[in-house]
Amino acid sequence: MDLGPDTFMTAEIRNNWTLESLRELHDTPLLELVFRAAAVHRRFHDPAEMQVSKLISIKTGACPEDCSYCAQSSRYSTGISPERLMEKEKVVEIAQRARDAGVSRVCLGAAWREVKDNAQFDRVLEMVRGVTDLGMEVCCTLGMLNEQQAKRLEEAGLYAYNHNVDSSAEFYETIITTRTYADRLKTLGEVRKTNVTLCSGGIIGLGETVDDRLKMLQTLARIEPHPESVPINILSKVAGTPMAENPDVPVWDVVRMIATARIVLPRSDVRLTAGRITLDDTAQALCFLAGANSIFSSETEFMLTKAVPSPSYDRDRELLSALGLRLREPFKHGRTHPAQEARGTATTCLADPCAVAG
Ligand code: SAM
Ligand code: SF4
Repeated sequence: MDLGPDTFMTAEIRNNWTLESLRELHDTPLLELVFRAAAVHRRFHDPAEMQVSKLISIKTGACPEDCSYCAQSSRYSTGISPERLMEKEKVVEIAQRARDAGVSRVCLGAAWREVKDNAQFDRVLEMVRGVTDLGMEVCCTLGMLNEQQAKRLEEAGLYAYNHNVDSSAEFYETIITTRTYADRLKTLGEVRKTNVTLCSGGIIGLGETVDDRLKMLQTLARIEPHPESVPINILSKVAGTPMAENPDVPVWDVVRMIATARIVLPRSDVRLTAGRITLDDTAQALCFLAGANSIFSSETEFMLTKAVPSPSYDRDRELLSALGLRLREPFKHGRTHPAQEARGTATTCLADPCAVAG
């Protein structure tokens, strides 16, 4: 496969990456890969713009799932004290301060296995309406959901739904046993039946192989249209979880993953998420050059819970201004995202993860 620079100047939106072509791309000499990713980035995005999101843990801890990286799983003693569902007023207050700090998207995270049709979900829908009324994009990450629940979130004005595939189908079952990869893909399919944009990505540093990382990108690229935002998390090691002692992810692995994700998912927002605090300013700048155009920031030094640290609004404002990057306004693309332009076509979503194997 010719991977010459002009290939990347004419980057197209593809759903048929083979593992072999992904390996060849990923293993391109690093600075050449960064150059090519930067070229693709400029074709699809304003390279001087950074989308900034703020995560709010609206219901913390005591999650029944056993995700082996997660501080909120009730299976591990991580020191996170469970908290009930937050009041809407408090969520709107935090969102207002985020908006004043230049944040364009607020992500409401609940440590749930799945959405249930009960008063708590009704309260979350009220939070979505309240934060949307502030003129901000709202994302929810609430676990698995069905079509009817996705529709209710759409009617409430939800802009994005996060549901990460985390890794390859094969590796996934070694890190989580209380649900399947197909469960994750099914939820993505339910969201794809609405106008809510998709946010789906994963984590590196779980003990996966490079092939697992590439199979995750292969899965995401087979979703039509591609997820509008793709979070790439670096494992944030949480004491008490099975992954607490994992080795660090080498910084060049992070840059490679961002650059490869950019080329494979040209129109998606590639978000440098958990673990960004472990990167120095220079490494972050290289990731932004390679196409990471979205970050989480926070008014406290925590991302979602006290177990996962986050850079602060002030720190990020300093870094972005030093790099000549400005903050993206909310709804820059209107209610939908360019990646949804293809929405006219039938949208498919993988129900069978084995469909991507190989
Ligand atoms: N309960 C919801 C779910 O599982 O979909 C929301 C989970 S969490 C707030 C959203 C994502 O953050 C997870 O799917 C995972 O990819 C990522 N994440 C959670 N803990 C992490 C950690 N310790 N390090 C890196 N990423 C993490
Ligand atoms: Fe629960 Fe989500 Fe954490 Fe898994 S990642 S333990 S589902 S909160």
